Amino acid sequence: MERRIQTVNPILYASSRNYIDGAVSLLSPYIARGFISTKQIFDYVSNLGFKPYQITKFVQELTWRDYFQEVWRNKGDLLFQDLKHPQPNVKHTKIPKAILKSSLGTGISGIDRELLDFYENGYLHNHVRMYIASLVCNLSGAYWKLPSQWMYYHLLDADLASNTCSWQWVSGSFSSKKYFANQENINKYLKTNDQNTFLDLSYEELMNLKEIPKEFLELSDFDLSNAFNSTKQWFYDKKVQFENNKITTIFADSYERLELDPNLPICI
Ligand SMILES: Cc1cc2nc3c(=O)[nH]c(=O)nc-3n(C[C@H](O)[C@H](O)[C@H](O)COP(=O)(O)OP(=O)(O)OC[C@H]3O[C@@H](n4cnc5c(N)ncnc54)[C@H](O)[C@@H]3O)c2cc1C
Repeated sequence: MERRIQTVNPILYASSRNYIDGAVSLLSPYIARGFISTKQIFDYVSNLGFKPYQITKFVQELTWRDYFQEVWRNKGDLLFQDLKHPQPNVKHTKIPKAILKSSLGTGISGIDRELLDFYENGYLHNHVRMYIASLVCNLSGAYWKLPSQWMYYHLLDADLASNTCSWQWVSGSFSSKKYFANQENINKYLKTNDQNTFLDLSYEELMNLKEIPKEFLELSDFDLSNAFNSTKQWFYDKKVQFENNKITTIFADSYERLELDPNLPICI
């Protein structure tokens, strides 16, 4: 955790955070599990010697987390219902099989690549979380609740407030409009080159799509009682090096294997 905090570079963060290889902090599991607070990270970043405007983007993102916690505190269990208004255009309350571990394959190569990594490492880049939620709720027509539980289950940084509010934001029940991303956007930020996919459309075409893409027609009930069958988890790390304010190396590395002892109680 110390090492990750020390690699936070707010300037690079602001310019690259939306890209799959951007200089994100990967601090969320530590924050979500209570090892460190957003205030402690804010204090650290504030004392790095940058001007306030240079750390604004990073601080704004920390603030989203605190805001979602306040929404939960304020709403209580109402967090788990549509927050602002009913989610528009709901077609079902299940989850598309295409994103489940057993049948990987949305046909969008960047998403499928990141899903594989997610099942292995328990982390998803923020943009990928948004893409997946949008595909599931806004193209397949799923109600946000079950898919949000699926993502929560697999995340190392699982947090009820951030996760629930974000799914509701993407699906339009906690925002004024649904979030959409087309293939061009996904190619740009996930560094892929897919063409002629069901997302290779203009935004106008995408938002007015009448038919559910065939890749999302098969649905499933995500059964949590079956899902908890893995006792091993790889711990995720990403090494980032900086030179003259440019990223020189970024690579993912599984460096420590955590083993769960099924004979011991688990505190969640
Ligand atoms: C559908 C969806 C589900 C999500 N579920 C969770 C979740 O269960 N737990 C969780 O911690 N975050 C969740 N997020 C928010 C965000 O994706 C993660 O916090 C972020 O990707 C974690 O990576 P990082 O630590 O490298 O973040 P950085 O970009 O380095 O940001 C630093 C810290 O700021 C906070 N933060 C950054 N972006 C956001 C954001 N958009 N919303 C809220 N806080 C943010 C996090 O605590 C993060 O660790 C979700 C977002 C979406 C779109």
